[in-house]
Amino acid sequence: MSGSGQDDAAMAWALEQLRPYAPVVQHLQVPYDGWRCLQASLTLQGESLPVRALLRSQNTPEAGLEAEVIDLGRGRPDDFERVGDAVRGKIVLVSHEFPFTGDHVHRRRKYDMALQAGAVGFLIANNVPGQGLLSGSSGRPRDGVGIPAAYTDYESAQRLIAAAAQGAARVNLVIQGEELLDSQASVGIAEIPGGRDSVIVISAHMDGHDLGVSALDNATGVATALAAARALAAKVGPDTPSLRICFFCAEEWALAGSARYLADMDPAERARIKFDINLDTVAGDLSLTAMISDFPALEPVVNQAAALAGIPVSTWLPLMPNSDHANFARNGIPALRLTAGFGKPDSRVNNILSAGDLPAIIAEGELRQALAVTCALADVALGMSDAQLDALAARD
Ligand SMILES: [Zn+2]
Repeated sequence: MSGSGQDDAAMAWALEQLRPYAPVVQHLQVPYDGWRCLQASLTLQGESLPVRALLRSQNTPEAGLEAEVIDLGRGRPDDFERVGDAVRGKIVLVSHEFPFTGDHVHRRRKYDMALQAGAVGFLIANNVPGQGLLSGSSGRPRDGVGIPAAYTDYESAQRLIAAAAQGAARVNLVIQGEELLDSQASVGIAEIPGGRDSVIVISAHMDGHDLGVSALDNATGVATALAAARALAAKVGPDTPSLRICFFCAEEWALAGSARYLADMDPAERARIKFDINLDTVAGDLSLTAMISDFPALEPVVNQAAALAGIPVSTWLPLMPNSDHANFARNGIPALRLTAGFGKPDSRVNNILSAGDLPAIIAEGELRQALAVTCALADVALGMSDAQLDALAARD
């Protein structure tokens, strides 16, 4: 978790692994809006329910926020439209969704809709029975407008829905957190210099959530990036672009680390980056998907790499702002996120953000597949001319 110090320790360790292959290694720091939860509780009719504050949640009054809970189902735009003004003054209850589907509505969007509709609080329930709580970010900026926001588990949501149906879902929600001023997030850069000005990036986020150990999300991406750097080092030479490994922290804080790294970069330096291969949750299922961020020219690159690796990889065109690739894409840099289990809510990938995100749920074969695909993607890009790389940025 960013802010725990473990993210910085993991960064130092990972960069040490890259030193034998990458002559240029930098451990940078970028500012982000740090925050820590001090206290969280949820009480229904005198009984405590499990609750976990979203990162950067707004505080309730110290004695708690007393309000009626209103059930908005999955909390999609049509759910908010259907209920309209009835949300005002209430605590909205919505359902978490498996994040890797075509029609997924992100937690932060549901939160924003609740805020805009006049809700005084936001509860998001795990959609998986028996899986306990989840952890996630509210995305509220420092000094930004917000409402108290927290996860609860599936079983508590069922109780709240039943109580709401009887008009008896008045709860007390307590969330007390504190701002951690001057927080810094580690950024790790390791570069294997080529002979050309252009740069190919392999990125992965180092931070996670701490209910489990973030093995899927995102030790799998970090491990794959490390192994890919080792395997690709010999392929980078005088005729190729440079290969840069970027590790980010504060990804789980609304993608803050990579946003700041790219925003602070000189535009000419940023223009050298031709392609970002972002690795996030690349195991947990044997199916692999490249989310190609509205860059249609990346589809043939993915297909070529999949053929080279002998591993099927599907593509998903629309930008999914669910990892650091989205910040590269927003800066006009062709970017994809490789992920496992897209469209498969029953896969082991559904353990992300939960206490079940542990090493034991990952199969080595899944990591080897992700590694083969990552190396093939980088290999294809390293073999392209600058004109071919620039053409990847075409939007139609
Ligand atoms: Zn992730």
